[in-house]
Amino acid sequence: ASRNPGQPEFLQAVTEVMESLWPFIAEHPKYAEHGLLDRLVEPERIVMFRVSWVDDRGQVQVNRGYRIQHSMAIGPYKGGIRFHPSVNLSVLKFLAFEQTFKNALTTLPMGGGKGGADFDPKGRTPGEVMRFCQAFVSELFRHIGADTDVPAGDIGVGGREVGFMTGMMKKLSNRADCVFTGKGLSFGGSLIRPEATGYGTVYFADEMLKTRGRTFDGLRVSVSGSGNVAQYAVEKAMSLGARVVTVSDSSGTVIDEEGFTPEKLAVLMDVKNHLYGRVSDYAARVGARFEADKRPWHVPVDVALPCATQNELDADDAATLIRNGVVCVAEGANMPSTIEAAKAFEAAGVLYAPGKASNAGGVATSGLEMSQNAERMSWPREEVDARLLQIMQGIHAACLQYGKRADGSVSYIDGANIAGFVKVADAMLAQGVI
Ligand code: NDP
Repeated sequence: ASRNPGQPEFLQAVTEVMESLWPFIAEHPKYAEHGLLDRLVEPERIVMFRVSWVDDRGQVQVNRGYRIQHSMAIGPYKGGIRFHPSVNLSVLKFLAFEQTFKNALTTLPMGGGKGGADFDPKGRTPGEVMRFCQAFVSELFRHIGADTDVPAGDIGVGGREVGFMTGMMKKLSNRADCVFTGKGLSFGGSLIRPEATGYGTVYFADEMLKTRGRTFDGLRVSVSGSGNVAQYAVEKAMSLGARVVTVSDSSGTVIDEEGFTPEKLAVLMDVKNHLYGRVSDYAARVGARFEADKRPWHVPVDVALPCATQNELDADDAATLIRNGVVCVAEGANMPSTIEAAKAFEAAGVLYAPGKASNAGGVATSGLEMSQNAERMSWPREEVDARLLQIMQGIHAACLQYGKRADGSVSYIDGANIAGFVKVADAMLAQGVI
């Protein structure tokens, strides 16, 4: 803590991982040698930079940009770019740290990184967003590259923003390398990439339910968020027969006891992806109930899928979900549950998957986009989806292998942390002290 003052999210993420690792390292002391753990919690490189740009009124705006290059041990740095006013060093360091383990779990050769800026895209015109993206890349470009660091989207960065950043990158480098993933289909994007995080989260939850002899069919599901991850989690859960009764955003929660339909989801996508509106606009259009400033966790469900942001589900929310009989919680967002909430789920015997396991489908499919770009090919939708499912099943199996407790129960927290750690740590030990 004294090395990282004022970085609560980063310390939270490191604490959670280390709590899983201590007993494992006690049994495998080679991982305590060569300063391995001290090196693992220190990002290899952090770049912070000024982003200045001119808004539509001719005013100069100044934001702060970042790229955290956490670990290259198993491949080029890889992780998304976030544009949100809450972005700071602590948030991005936690995300880059988590990303390193998550990417290892996918089994693809990707290191860990994360970046972003404290830019708020809300209320900005398309022209302002484009100029901001261009200004951001005018510095970022010298730090990234197809074999160095390959960013993607995250909160506030979707297909539109990745397109603008890819365009500027090409102009500055005069190369068409795969330097961003999540690109549009006409310039190197992969089918299923937009769907991948949400689909993957549901595939993972489905594997968890199977261990209890259950499926999604007929279950009540709550989803938080209404962005990229949430939308496709809703779609996949619905297609498996679940009744999805909530979505949310930072303004409140929509509760719809009748459940989502494909038609309602199309309205949500129109409101969020084209009109850049609020879930209250969606609720008004489909005639659902909107609760301002509320989160979805008081609604009784069998499965909860937090897909918005970090620390959006605390110990009180967990207690409410448990009291209402929740069976499974799979995180689409990164670290949406506080440490106390995660512990409460495990203690109550709820199937609980941390984001680094259950939301790894997004970066896994980004890895598949890199492969397709490298071989100058694009794979059919079915092939990418089948590989995504296979990767999620593989991560689930790794969690079972490393997370099994003496009493036969499974901690997905320990499983994900240890499985990811072993791969990164072995690679670091083999490559010497660098
Ligand atoms: P989007 O920007 O598409 O959507 C984010 C959603 O979360 C919006 O509904 C947003 O509401 C809500 N949200 C954001 N911040 C807050 C907040 N402080 N309080 C309440 N709600 C909030 O982002 P994504 O769907 O891409 O990302 C969601 C989560 O999933 C993040 O944790 C991200 O790191 C994680 N993730 C994303 C991946 C991807 O492939 N996109 C891959 C793996 C993880 P509002 O519109 O009001 O801001």
